[in-house]
Amino acid sequence: DKPKIGFIGLGNMGAPMAENLLKAGYALTVYDLSADATQRLQQAGANVADSPEGAAAGAQVVISMLPAGKHVHSVYLGDMSAEQSGSTGLLAKLPKGTLVIDSSTIAAADARKVADEAGKLGIEFLDAPVSGGTGGAIAGTLTFIVGGSAEAFAKAKPILSMMGKNIFHAGDHGAGQVAKICNNMMLGILMAGTAEAINLGVKNGLDAKVLSDIMLQSSGRNWALEVYNPYPQVMENVPSSNGYKGGFMANLMQKDLNLAMDTAKDTGAKAPMGAKATELYSAHVTEHGDKDFSSIMALHDSSVL
Ligand code: NAD
Repeated sequence: DKPKIGFIGLGNMGAPMAENLLKAGYALTVYDLSADATQRLQQAGANVADSPEGAAAGAQVVISMLPAGKHVHSVYLGDMSAEQSGSTGLLAKLPKGTLVIDSSTIAAADARKVADEAGKLGIEFLDAPVSGGTGGAIAGTLTFIVGGSAEAFAKAKPILSMMGKNIFHAGDHGAGQVAKICNNMMLGILMAGTAEAINLGVKNGLDAKVLSDIMLQSSGRNWALEVYNPYPQVMENVPSSNGYKGGFMANLMQKDLNLAMDTAKDTGAKAPMGAKATELYSAHVTEHGDKDFSSIMALHDSSVL
């Protein structure tokens, strides 16, 4: 029998993820602060609750897709501070044995804090951030990067498979978040570097497409050149050829880079390239935070916007 699922957070990512679970035949009760968001899911066949507890009532599995660590803490831990223990939030109201899966991108330390409190209450917690963007969420082809116990991972996998294609077990609590921000730090560095290289060529008279084709068949080849070229009209169907609309917001890239920098500082790992990318994105988002992250191209060439 399929477990009943409570789903909390129905934004750009959460709504299509929840819809894919409904399509797969799971019974879903949903909650979001926004009534527009819950209405969309009600039309797709979900039950709507007016609190996180309501969404979780009678559910064996709870999934959340919230903006940042503070929202995840507020839902699961309530008003307890970082130094305290003893949840006054959703965790305290769940029956023992409930499986909780948080797919928000948050600091590993925040995920471990929730996992610790859950553990004390006999609740299994997984951090399961995703890669693949809104396109992947709609198509059900997300990559899930999971941290937590092997037993909880085995229980979660069939459910995550309805929303994603590649489901990785990265390690213990927090490992999913660490792997996710390592990847996104590298992506930020590669996107900023690719934009810089293309600009150098263009400023020296090269055509952006000719240069991109050359680098794509040479040792500078990377994901941005392959599928997400930051220079307008080099590729079809990418944000740079559509006014940098849609895609992955520069604000979210900056959030992830800051998480990577916090994690590097906490653990004494050097991250000078990540620090430079964070600096570049921080400057860029003051004006263009709501544009796709490949718009970092405009830092070199404002005519692309
Ligand atoms: P979003 O802002 O579109 O959605 C967040 C939703 O959470 C909103 O509907 C909001 O009303 C709801 N919410 C906030 N606080 C709440 C609370 N206390 N209780 C209930 N609902 C609450 O964000 P998103 O784009 O869906 O991203 C969600 C997470 O996924 C973020 O951590 C983001 O970094 C990560 N992510 C996003 C993408 C992307 O391309 N958008 C890709 C990978 C990962």
